[in-house]
Formats: sequence, structure tokens, C-alpha cells
Amino acid sequence: MVWSIRDGYGIFCQQLNSVQEKNTLRKENSSVKLLKLHGSLNWLYCPSCGQLYTYEHSDPQGNSVIINGMANMVKCATEHCCHRLSRVIIPPTLMKNYQSIPFIPELWRQAREALTRAREIIVIGYSFPTTDFRSNWMFRKAMVHNDALEKVVIIDAAEGYQLETLLAKHRSIFRMQELKFYPSISKYTEELNSLS
Ligand SMILES: [Zn+2]
Repeated sequence: MVWSIRDGYGIFCQQLNSVQEKNTLRKENSSVKLLKLHGSLNWLYCPSCGQLYTYEHSDPQGNSVIINGMANMVKCATEHCCHRLSRVIIPPTLMKNYQSIPFIPELWRQAREALTRAREIIVIGYSFPTTDFRSNWMFRKAMVHNDALEKVVIIDAAEGYQLETLLAKHRSIFRMQELKFYPSISKYTEELNSLS
């Protein structure tokens, strides 16, 4: 399995501040996609030319740091652009502003397309809160058009809500009565290991 920053986020992305990584950057196309529909802490983008970057640097102890005050000062590396870069975080509130960052709707489109074709879906720690209109809508819409879905796995500690309510919601969204449920990642990986 191959993943590279260049195309693995679903849109073209460049790495800032890491000469060493640049030299070893994979040339192959990613065979898996990591679609971050609410942005990411390690993303910066240019509101002027639209380029997306990952930003990461090492602190004096050599630890990798993605959040610091300096991120607001970083400038676009596109030739003749030099615009100051912005963070790409869409906070989980009722009124998510998805259109404010041009490439976010494209990521949602890719996610919906992948869900429409999926044979197996694994949901880890996500309970489809009613305030998450857009996510609910995307899953329901995709499931109506998915003829290939064979298996849905739910991994959820179900803390703070009733397990039965959670599973009922998943059954409704995925239009499937038989769901595989695990209360933790370790229980799920135990089962995976016993199968292999
Ligand atoms: Zn730019």
C-alpha cells in the first residue's frame, strides 16, 4: 500500500519546511486516500493561489510540532505568490462553513463517491450526531446508490449514549440490519489477528 503527501489527501499537496522529506518523497500515486473533510491541524493553504501545504517543524528537542504561533507567519512557496498561508480547520459546530475553503467541497465529493462504491465500511468512534447535517446527508445519499455494500463494522465505546440507539442509527444510515460491533479497537484487532 502506497501513501504520499503529494496526492494522498485527495488534492495536490506540498510539504513545507522539510528538505529531507522532500528528497525522499514518493513518486508513485497513492493507492489509499486520507480525505480529511474538516481540514487538518497540519494543513496550511494559500487563499490567493489555492495551493495546499503540510506544515511541520522540529522543536529544539527534535520533536515534530504542528501547532505553534509561527504557522501564521508562513508564506506561500508558489513562485511570485508569497501570500500569507491560512489554517484549514472547519470546527464541529452546527454551521460549518464548507464553502470558505475552495477544495473542501471536492474532498466531500470524493468521499461520497468512495462511499457509493464501498463493499465494506468501518466506522470508528463516530456516532452521526444530529448536528452533523452534512455528514448524515452524505452517508444517506451514498448508501441509496450503493449496490455493493456487504459489511459494516462499528467500533465504538458508546460512552455518553445508549448503544442500542447508536446501532439503530447505523442500521438506518447503512440500510443494513446485521452490523458487526466492537467496543474498542483492541477487540477489533484481536478478531483480525485471529482470522489471519
Ligand atoms: Zn499562493
